[in-house]
Amino acid sequence: MRCAKTKDMQDGVPEDSLEEPVRACIFCSTTVLTPCRTFVQESPPVRLIMCSECKAQMVDHLPQREFLDKLYTESEYVGFLEGSQRLTRALARRLASEVRASWSTSVVVQILDYGGGSGSLARCLAAALTEHELRSQVTVVDIISGELGDELTFLTPDEFDACTQTFDVILCSAVIEHLRDPGFRLKNLYSRLNAGGWIYVRSPQLGGLKILRASWFRWPRHLSEFGPAFWRRFPPAMGWNVEFVWSRASRPETEWRTRPISTVVAIALKSPSFLELGLRRMLRLSKGCRYPWVGGWEFLGRKRATT
Ligand SMILES: [Zn+2]
Repeated sequence: MRCAKTKDMQDGVPEDSLEEPVRACIFCSTTVLTPCRTFVQESPPVRLIMCSECKAQMVDHLPQREFLDKLYTESEYVGFLEGSQRLTRALARRLASEVRASWSTSVVVQILDYGGGSGSLARCLAAALTEHELRSQVTVVDIISGELGDELTFLTPDEFDACTQTFDVILCSAVIEHLRDPGFRLKNLYSRLNAGGWIYVRSPQLGGLKILRASWFRWPRHLSEFGPAFWRRFPPAMGWNVEFVWSRASRPETEWRTRPISTVVAIALKSPSFLELGLRRMLRLSKGCRYPWVGGWEFLGRKRATT
């Protein structure tokens, strides 16, 4: 088998910080797992495996929790799109345009930003909803409390698990791929979503691009990858009663002004997906796109009112 070794692999995980081989899918618990061609670490070897059921890819050895805790607490922690308020606001406006008709002006929309860092996306969404005369309350769950201010509620993951509050909008951007228990977390978030509420999940989606350079997977920070095939299979397998609103390539994370080359590459990679999306709209086909080599994926679903 080919080992896609790169010069970036020096930031590996030592053997005594790796757990035993993964025997069951960390999303859906299926035990039929197929080795992939991509090795994210050469020594000791760590490669990707694919679940036969939900089609998620994951590493075949997880780092121990203590290793990841140290990794995240001893290095600079940056949330999703925190470097670009303009891109964050653009995403928030797109989300607001989809969800705003769900409530009357008499309710306070409860927004959860799971793993949201400083809560920038949730703040922008709340601001966008305000333009439609909707009030909202933001709760941020993360391992580190940033400069949140008094208007946001901050909970650690343990505090979040200990409470029973439910939410109207759940944002989960660039988080799930970092978790050792992504399936449990997705199921838990779905259970905390009110009927008629919305769940947004964004994650990397490299597809076959990982063969070109395994370091793009971003091990050991990223432990899994899941995209179009996953979103067709996982929600029904878990009994989610959701309407698919988006399942498509995410917009580029970089801006032309600050990172021109990265932005051009991202647009070039995602172009076939945007073409697919346009054709699907024109032909009134399913909203679940399939073209996978896009770099990033986003899913937006609405929990139906009946269970
Ligand atoms: Zn699975």
